[in-house]
Amino acid sequence: MATQAFQEAHFAPKDLAYDYQALSPCISEQTLHFHHDKHYVGYVNKLNELVVGTPFAEKSFEEMILEADGGIYNNAAQAWNHEFYFEQFSATPKHAPEGALLDAISRSFGSYDEMKRRVVTAAGALFGSGWIWLAEDKEGKLSVVSSPNAGNPMREGLRPLFCVDVWEHAYYLDYQNRRPDAVAAFWEILDWKRVEERFEK
Ligand code: MN
Repeated sequence: MATQAFQEAHFAPKDLAYDYQALSPCISEQTLHFHHDKHYVGYVNKLNELVVGTPFAEKSFEEMILEADGGIYNNAAQAWNHEFYFEQFSATPKHAPEGALLDAISRSFGSYDEMKRRVVTAAGALFGSGWIWLAEDKEGKLSVVSSPNAGNPMREGLRPLFCVDVWEHAYYLDYQNRRPDAVAAFWEILDWKRVEERFEK
């Protein structure tokens, strides 16, 4: 049911760029339906309710991430984070970085394998819900950032390159309590072509 608030605020959820079966078995069709259609769309709808009558109704998700607090921040960040998350996967991913991105990873971490190890370690260490990011600072140095809840590294002046959703809703239907298995599967569907495009932009 379209509410008045929704019509006025107009932020529209984005469709997935691939079929719901495309990432199976790493992420099942059922998980994608719940994760995209219920959780992500829910954040966008909630944001539409919250921004009515505020200056944020005319702003972008990025501006809200930098400027808002409380519910508007949480729902704008979750909307942006999920769009960024869903867009980085492919049924036919490029499995490893090359060129300038690989150079930056090697400079920042020593090796590609060390970067992956740090992502896996951070995902295991984050208590509760949140996100693990590969992010770039203004000098081009990359780091692994651990953000609880609806965190986003843009808040700290960093540019996100990819993210791992470690909220239970991202993996519980497929992996139950086995978060490390979900993170292992993440590497199978992460499209490094997409990450390279983000880095080179
Ligand atoms: Mn999520």
